[in-house]
Amino acid sequence: MDTRISEFNPIQIIRYVTELDLLTNPILNAKEKDFLAELYEFMEKELDPELKKLEELNYLVEEPTQDKKKEIVVEIMKKLAQSGYYSTILNTEDYEIGRITRNALIAYALCGGRWSEYSEKYIAGNYSIEMGRLAGGTLYCNPVNYASDDSQKKRFLNPVAEDGQIGASAMTEFNAGSDIFRMEMRLHDQNENIVAKGKKLFITNGMIADYIVLYGRLDNGQLGAIVVDTEHQQLKNFRSTRVMTYGMTDAFVSRLIFDKVEIPKENMLHGHGLDIAFHQLTEERLVISAEALGDAMKKLLYSHAYALQRRQFEKRLHQYQVIRFPISQKIRELNLMLSALIQYAREMDNRPELGGSKLMAANAMGLKISATELGFESSIHCFRTLGGRGFTRQYANEIGLLDSYCMLHGGGSNYVLEDSESRRFFKYKPPKSKYEDYITKIDY
Ligand SMILES: Cc1cc2nc3c(=O)[nH]c(=O)nc-3n(C[C@H](O)[C@H](O)[C@H](O)COP(=O)(O)OP(=O)(O)OC[C@H]3O[C@@H](n4cnc5c(N)ncnc54)[C@H](O)[C@@H]3O)c2cc1C
Repeated sequence: MDTRISEFNPIQIIRYVTELDLLTNPILNAKEKDFLAELYEFMEKELDPELKKLEELNYLVEEPTQDKKKEIVVEIMKKLAQSGYYSTILNTEDYEIGRITRNALIAYALCGGRWSEYSEKYIAGNYSIEMGRLAGGTLYCNPVNYASDDSQKKRFLNPVAEDGQIGASAMTEFNAGSDIFRMEMRLHDQNENIVAKGKKLFITNGMIADYIVLYGRLDNGQLGAIVVDTEHQQLKNFRSTRVMTYGMTDAFVSRLIFDKVEIPKENMLHGHGLDIAFHQLTEERLVISAEALGDAMKKLLYSHAYALQRRQFEKRLHQYQVIRFPISQKIRELNLMLSALIQYAREMDNRPELGGSKLMAANAMGLKISATELGFESSIHCFRTLGGRGFTRQYANEIGLLDSYCMLHGGGSNYVLEDSESRRFFKYKPPKSKYEDYITKIDY
């Protein structure tokens, strides 16, 4: 059954908004603009028809759509890889702009889409497709590249980074969410194999992954990481099922069961599991920021278009300040954050040693919190502007209204780190006699 209501017209984006087009933003240099322009062209030609097919499937209820979606998503990841847009970890010398800046621009463009002056239509962006790209192209490829030997790189990195096979990163468990030190997945050493026993939850790409970097507890109690070749999901004693989420509908978020799965010992990555997972944390934070900013741009574009056209009480909605002000305020915030993003990404590319800087990691964390909140708030305003239509699939599917709700927790770390960061700011032991009264007062 198709859920669309024939009386509702699709939302037409009828006016180009310069401030919402990254290509016109003076913060980008000429080379970055060239890269972005080519990427948008690729999206228009190669991805837009596929993303439209995914959107169409979202209007259907009471019909199986999962297999069709899987086919489309797998094909999209291959296309991205063939054009160098899946992972940015290899072939860095082929590009004139840095790896992390490229990763951020891809994330922004894939989430936000773009108004095309050439064809005078909006080229779709899709946050959940970008989530899949992030999971495979970055969260899988970067740790594997960091902690593998040459033979492992050939077997586990190239098929994903170059050929676009699907990768995933499996950390989260039922009891180990934000608190990943509580991981219970066992990686037991047995003769030639590591035997994996345990469950993982919320794993992006999990049920379509060809390769998974699996984090778990070794016999000595330390955390380790191993690459699982799922043999195209046929691996013995391994099961994967879909977790149905609101939003992020094409990210194939999954629950994984490893029931004594035997994995060859030579698949173990080298080093401590936590270091392997977190060595690229600053890059990940910047890419997640870029995703949220791209998504915020998309929501603002839709709010703007709808407010321009919808008429109530004999006026267009944009003639009411209560509708107009939040949109212009968020556009301002978006451009401020974009400047920080591009600046941080460029610095990380120019000075790779910043990957180990705690202050840089904290700055990227701050940007991620603000960017994901901006995405969330832009979605709230979009919902408000659309009125009742916001609650229909017809409008919510096209705009991906709920996607940004998912990333508010920013991959789990936002509020945990905000909490510890704010405590760090106030770590201060005043001389007792002088401040005693003052502290008692603010406690109340
Ligand atoms: C769409 C989607 C895709 C995902 N993809 C992956 C993936 O590919 N791989 C993977 O391993 N995981 C993935 N995750 C899991 C994600 O990383 C977890 O949801 C996250 O770690 C939070 O864990 P939790 O859901 O158990 O929340 P909880 O840990 O139960 O936390 C609940 C809330 O409390 C807050 N909180 C917790 N502790 C503190 C603290 N100390 N101070 C302040 N606030 C705190 C959290 O920020 C959160 O808002 C995905 C999740 C979603 C929704």
